[in-house]
Amino acid sequence: MIKGIGVSGGVGIGKILLIEEHSLTYTPVTVTDTEAETQRFREAVEKFCENTIQQAEALKVSAGEKEAEIMLGHISIVKDPFLLGEVDKLIAGGQCAEAAFESMCDMFISIFSAADDDVTKQRAADVRDVKSGVLSILLGISEVKISDAPKGTVLCAKELTPSMIAEINKENIVGILTETGSTTSHSAILARVLEIPAVMSAADIMSTAKNGEMVIIDGTKGETILSPDESQIQFYAAKREKLLQERRELEKFRGKPTISADGTAYELVCNIGKPDDAAKAIDFDGEGVGLFRTEFLFMDHTSAPSEEEQFKAYQKAAIILKNKPLIIRTLDIGGDKDIPYLGLAKEENPFMGFRAIRYCLKHRDLFKTQLRAILRASAFGKISIMFPLITCVEEVREGKALVEECKEELRTEHIAFDENIKVGIMTETAASGIIADLLAQESDFFSIGTNDLTGYTMAADRGNSDVSYLYSVLQPSVLRMIKAIIEAGCRHNIPVGMCGEAAADPLMIPLLISFGLTEFSVSAPSVLRVRKCISAWTKEKADAVAQKAMNFATQKEVKEYLSEVC
Ligand code: PEP
Ligand code: MG
Repeated sequence: MIKGIGVSGGVGIGKILLIEEHSLTYTPVTVTDTEAETQRFREAVEKFCENTIQQAEALKVSAGEKEAEIMLGHISIVKDPFLLGEVDKLIAGGQCAEAAFESMCDMFISIFSAADDDVTKQRAADVRDVKSGVLSILLGISEVKISDAPKGTVLCAKELTPSMIAEINKENIVGILTETGSTTSHSAILARVLEIPAVMSAADIMSTAKNGEMVIIDGTKGETILSPDESQIQFYAAKREKLLQERRELEKFRGKPTISADGTAYELVCNIGKPDDAAKAIDFDGEGVGLFRTEFLFMDHTSAPSEEEQFKAYQKAAIILKNKPLIIRTLDIGGDKDIPYLGLAKEENPFMGFRAIRYCLKHRDLFKTQLRAILRASAFGKISIMFPLITCVEEVREGKALVEECKEELRTEHIAFDENIKVGIMTETAASGIIADLLAQESDFFSIGTNDLTGYTMAADRGNSDVSYLYSVLQPSVLRMIKAIIEAGCRHNIPVGMCGEAAADPLMIPLLISFGLTEFSVSAPSVLRVRKCISAWTKEKADAVAQKAMNFATQKEVKEYLSEVC
C-alpha cells in the first residue's frame, strides 16, 4: 500500500494511464531573423490561447463556470504585457523563442514559489502549466490525449495540471493519482468538483506504477494499492458502491432548506480557515459561515498582518458569500496554536494561560487592527464579530468597548461599516456555561465551541491519550453544560449556534434540536449529511430522546442509547 494525501474522496478502481512528462528540452540557438522569431512566438501564444479557450469551454460543461475561469487565468498569464514585452526584448537580442519564453517563465516561477501564501504559490504552478503548454507548441510536441482515455482509467502523472484535467471525460476517468500536489492545488479542487477520487503526493508513483496496471485508490484515506488481488478488488468495489449510494442519497438534499421533519428551519453554515474556503462552503451548499478561524492569517505571516491585508481577506470572504452570514472570530492564539512573532512565553499550562481574548485585550493595538479590518469588511456583507474563550462578563464588555472605539474612529475617518454589526461570543469554557445567563445579556449570540468546552469541562486535554477516555461530548457533564447554554440563550432571546465538531455528530443532533439550537456550523463536506440528519427528527421525537439520554449517569450509557436510536 502506498500512502499519499487523499484530496478528493471516494474509491476508484481501474487501469493506470501514465501521463509521462514530455521532454521539453531543446538546444537554444541564436536567431538572426528576430522578426520572424517574434512572429513564431506570437503564433504559438495565439495557438495556446485557442487551446485554452477550448479546454475552458469543456471544463465549463463538466465542472462549472468558476472552474473554467481557472483555465482562462492562463490566458492572462501568457498575455501579460510585461511578460510579452520582456520576451520580445530577449528575442530582439538574438535568443530563440523557446529560451526567451522559458527564462521569463522561470523568473516568475521562482518569485511565486518563494511566497509564503498558498495562493501565490499556486500561481507558480499555473505559470509552469503555461510554460509547458507554450513550449510544447513551439517544439511541435503533441500531448497524450487524455480525452481519448478508455472507461475505467486511473490517470497517473507527476503533476496533473488544470489543462490536463480540462480534458477529462468524467464517464471514463475513475481516479487520479499524482506524485506531487496537495489538498489546495487547483487540480485537487477540480478533482473534488468533478467528484473523481484523487490521491496526491504518492511517493515515486511514476516509477513504481506501470501503464495498464490495475490499481485501487482510496481518495478519502489517501491510499493506493497497485496490482490488487481479487479479495482487495471485491472489498473496495463494495466500499465504492456504498459510497456512491450514500452520495446519491445526500445529493437529494442539495439546494434544499435545512428543516426538521416537522418543518422547523435551521441555519446550516460552515467552519472555514481561509477566505477562499468561503467558496468551498458555497460549493458544498453551506448557507454561510458560522466560524471563520482567523488564526491562519497570522500563522501564514512572519509578522502581524496589517489592517489592509486583513481587511482584504475578510472582504474577500464576504464578497464570495454574497450577503450570506459570515461570523469572524477574533484571534484565537495560544494553547495549541503558537505564532512565533507574537512572542508568547512558554507556559506551564498553555490551555489555561495567556491566550485568545485574554491576549487580545492586553495587546490592544493588535486587537484594534483586527477589529477595524472586520468592521471595514462589514460594509461588504453580513458580518458578525465573535470573541473566543470568554470566561467572564468583563471580557465581553471590554471587547465590545473596543469595537465601539473602532467604530468611532471609522466614523471620524468617513469609512463605511455596518453600524448594526452583531457581536457574539464563543461559549467554550466551563465558566461561560455556568454564567451563560449573565453572558447572554451582554452578547448578540452564542456559538458553542464543543472542542474546547469538552476539554475545559472534563479537565481533560484531548491531545493526551491517557485521559482521552474522558474527553467526550457525550459525558453527562458536557451535555448538561450544552443544555444550560442553549437554554440561557433562548431565555434571553439570543440565537445559539454550535461550531465545535459535535454540531456534525449524528448522535448529538436530536439533543441539539430538543435543547433549542438554531444554527449548526460544520465542515463543508458535512453539510448535506447534517441536513439529512436534521430532516429525520421532529421536535417531539427529539425531546423524547433527549429526556431519556439526559437521565443516564455515564457517557457509555448515553452513547449506547443514542447509537441505538439515531
Ligand atoms: C471549539 O473549541 O469548539 C472551536 C470551534 O474552536 P477551535 O476548535 O478553533 O478551538
Ligand atoms: Mg475553541
